[in-house]
Amino acid sequence: MLLWKLKSPAVLCFHTFLLSLFIIISTVKSKLLFFPPPWSDILIFSIATLATAFLLFRFFLSLFHDGKKAGILSSVMLLFIFFYFPLFHTLFGVRFIYDFIYIFLFQKFHWVLLSLGIVLLALVYIAIKKTRKNLNGLTGFLNLFVLVLLLFEFSKIFFDDEFEVSVQKEFNEQEVHLNKKPGRNIYYLVMDSYTSSKSLKKYWNYENNELQDFLIAKGFLIAASSKCNYNSTPFSILSALNMSYLNIESYHEGQKVHISKVFRMIQNNAVVRALSENGYDILNLSLFDLMNEPAYYADPYYHKPSLFDKTIFHLPADKMGISSDRILFKTLASANIEIISKVTSSNKNAKPVFCYAHPMMPHEPFFFDELGNKMPDEYALNSDEKEKKYFRQLKYTNTLLMKTVEGILNNSKIKPIIIIQGDHGFRYLDDMDYNEQLEESKTILNAYLFPDDTLKNSFYDSISPVNSFRIIFNTYFGTELSLLKDRSFNIEITPEK
Ligand SMILES: [Zn+2]
Repeated sequence: MLLWKLKSPAVLCFHTFLLSLFIIISTVKSKLLFFPPPWSDILIFSIATLATAFLLFRFFLSLFHDGKKAGILSSVMLLFIFFYFPLFHTLFGVRFIYDFIYIFLFQKFHWVLLSLGIVLLALVYIAIKKTRKNLNGLTGFLNLFVLVLLLFEFSKIFFDDEFEVSVQKEFNEQEVHLNKKPGRNIYYLVMDSYTSSKSLKKYWNYENNELQDFLIAKGFLIAASSKCNYNSTPFSILSALNMSYLNIESYHEGQKVHISKVFRMIQNNAVVRALSENGYDILNLSLFDLMNEPAYYADPYYHKPSLFDKTIFHLPADKMGISSDRILFKTLASANIEIISKVTSSNKNAKPVFCYAHPMMPHEPFFFDELGNKMPDEYALNSDEKEKKYFRQLKYTNTLLMKTVEGILNNSKIKPIIIIQGDHGFRYLDDMDYNEQLEESKTILNAYLFPDDTLKNSFYDSISPVNSFRIIFNTYFGTELSLLKDRSFNIEITPEK
């Protein structure tokens, strides 16, 4: 009792501990939008966060001999350490700050932020050390403030405003049980982020004639006015491989979708299921699992495995090239080239093949110049001059595409069906009006090699991916799927305020 009475006027410092809990919950929650991390990773991250908080507190307690002072400085440091990258992106997302550092400070973004962080921490340290004030009020306020923040973050787990995406199947599932003897191999080549020739002319002043003339000479039809149905990879593919629109229509709905669920839905798509039931072998050279065929590579955009990637610990790991996303990025260069070579050697089977190849090209990372020279990581993974690097890589993509088509045709006894398609446009035009950006993001390369005249008759200039397999199934497998109105939704480009 005596002890309680003596201590009662003092306010104990809880906020550092509460802040560590907040960091753990909010970091794990942010991953749920992509792929939920395993329990072991959550445990390691939680221990690391709590241990950092404890060590910081002990260290500052030994300096100040005052729990409240130690607590305030520990909380400030904890925020800086564990939210380093969100802070980084917020700060340098401001155009004039970005421009200033880009031009006058030799692009040393991390050095600038680290220096600012050290100066700020030093100022807080001096202020706390010098103060004669009783810090009960401030500590009490911080305890309450962080508690409210924590409860709010925790409650979001139960009131999650996830958007449940679904495929609006506009056909009878029975209709696509094809039951016709399959014959031709089908190649679905999705070149990630390949924009239309019209956009290449308009924004890069480039006539994409070499590729177009080559494709036309081989008998391809080019849908010159084609737009993707969704300008974001998983949504675009989910819709194309189900020959249907999704229930999603806006950018904001897209932001609330759990991407791992979209991946699972793609795994069980209507096109692959129907072809497989009708005797096709599935050759999966994409980033998605397809039925029992695992993805050929893990993309670094949706698989963000490390819970530490927002923290300051990520900085040296990334610089040394040992962070998990850096490793995924680096595997892409060889994966892209392997995919191309596997496509052409894929028709040795007795059974017909459905090959879905989806290299991450001409999309970043920009590992190749226009001649196919392998570029260093510093060039490939750095987001400066995206537009220029994209264009160079696109030219090399053309070379690969022409080689691939040539290879497929040379190795085919029966003329195959080939679709070459972008899943969306480039999307990151610099210094461009919002509407132009949006417009470009929806334009795609969309070319078809159809061996039969009946199929050619169904083709039109603005056909979009949602209808690609509809006309193939109708022609070759006797389905009577009606063609849908071609529509295009924005999931990716942040709307203007
Ligand atoms: Zn894409």
